[in-house]
Amino acid sequence: MFELNDKTAVVTGGGSGIGKAIAQLFARQGAHVHVVDLNDAACVQVVREIREEAGRVTSHACDVSRQADVEALMATIGPFDILVNNAGIAHIGKADTTSEEDFDRVMSVNVKGVYNCLHAAIPQLRANGGGVILNMASVAAWVGIKERFAYSTAKGAVMAMTLSVAKDYLQDGIRCNSISPGRVHTPFVDGFLARNYPGREAEMFEQLSKTQPIGRMARPDEVAALALYLCSKEAAFITGTDYPIDGGFITLNT
Ligand code: NAD
Repeated sequence: MFELNDKTAVVTGGGSGIGKAIAQLFARQGAHVHVVDLNDAACVQVVREIREEAGRVTSHACDVSRQADVEALMATIGPFDILVNNAGIAHIGKADTTSEEDFDRVMSVNVKGVYNCLHAAIPQLRANGGGVILNMASVAAWVGIKERFAYSTAKGAVMAMTLSVAKDYLQDGIRCNSISPGRVHTPFVDGFLARNYPGREAEMFEQLSKTQPIGRMARPDEVAALALYLCSKEAAFITGTDYPIDGGFITLNT
């Protein structure tokens, strides 16, 4: 079960955190994985690690917010079966404290980046007889998170894009779902704590962990396991929906 033999997958933001864990697991399960990341060095390092395990993997430096670059990338990769739109950035701020520049930056990566990949990938998936798209949303889209205005807005758009794509391409054999993680311990979280709570990282890490009813953050490999299921043939009946993986954050925080 859950094998991806003979499949080719594209994972954006695969140079770190959740994307890296997905790339590793998909390669272990037999897929040829194209790891895409803005951070070329990180991407190359992930590819090196996966190759040591004898996985089939290729690294691509690309900024998903730039349409021409994404179109060129997808043309280079050629036919593939699975697209994981995982690249994303964080931002802290309320509606009145988020600058136009920051709002545009979050939208350009977290929303336009997903659109760019969908726009470039869907014709290839259709020509290939179908495929699977998995978008990385967030619990922020379900319940909002305090002082994450732009981020929550962007992830809401990711969920709406998931539904729209699932409907539009159902007849083309394309399934599209999203995952909404709660807090996952990745460099995304470490960077956030270092920037916003210098010297208090450990204390704030504990506080953030306690906001998950289950009492800890998720590990990236736990999210990757859900991604594998949703992209495997075992999930052939699942499309147009979102899967929280949140330690009870949405339903149990009263
Ligand atoms: P991360 O920062 O560890 O990794 C994100 C990767 O995306 C990085 O390697 C970064 O270089 C890459 N990236 C950023 N901008 C890019 C761009 N324009 N083009 C290409 N690559 C780009 O983050 P993570 O925690 O692994 O998060 C991955 C996804 O999961 C994001 O979409 C994030 O919003 C979502 N998410 C994370 C959490 C969490 O708690 N970590 C919770 C919910 C959702």
